[in-house]
Amino acid sequence: MYRYSESIARLIEALNKLPSIGQRSAERIVFYLLKADPIEVEKLSRAVIDIKTKIKACSICNNITESDPCNICSNPKRTSDEICVVEQPNDIISIEKTNEFRGRYHILLGAISPLDGISPDDLKIKQLVERIEKEKVKEIIIATNPNSEGEATAIYLSKILKPLKVKITRLAQGLPMGANLEYVDDITMTKALEGRREF
Ligand SMILES: [Zn+2]
Repeated sequence: MYRYSESIARLIEALNKLPSIGQRSAERIVFYLLKADPIEVEKLSRAVIDIKTKIKACSICNNITESDPCNICSNPKRTSDEICVVEQPNDIISIEKTNEFRGRYHILLGAISPLDGISPDDLKIKQLVERIEKEKVKEIIIATNPNSEGEATAIYLSKILKPLKVKITRLAQGLPMGANLEYVDDITMTKALEGRREF
């Protein structure tokens, strides 16, 4: 079997660990970079390092951001009347794409999953409760993923939040079961938001 020199092998191995990059693609990227303009390669490596050094979590909603609070929490045009609760920062993107939601978000940073050892205490639920009281929130839209972990999280949240006298809704059915919000198209998401029902 052909053996690459050490630095090439190391980069192929690193790229191969990325989502949807197999051995073949990793090799192709490495050969592309070998031929590419050194300035472009420098820019790429700088951009990779920057996302780990400059990006942090918003102290209000846990969204990923370069400035704290994030641009949604600090936008005066966004209302605190409605807070949409999602599992991960990338779930926000599919909801934002619909242009239907003018409220704010709260990112739990996961979902309840006993099999993976994730309990409610591992999620940003306490912080959500504090926000509901402090920001005088009127409606909580639970937009956890339509799978068993997301459903378990939604049910748990509805129980915990009930005494807070806030309206609790869940995105409408119609989202493909087992799907991830990240991959839901705009039209399906708009319908799910419009058709949300009270818990
Ligand atoms: Zn924020």
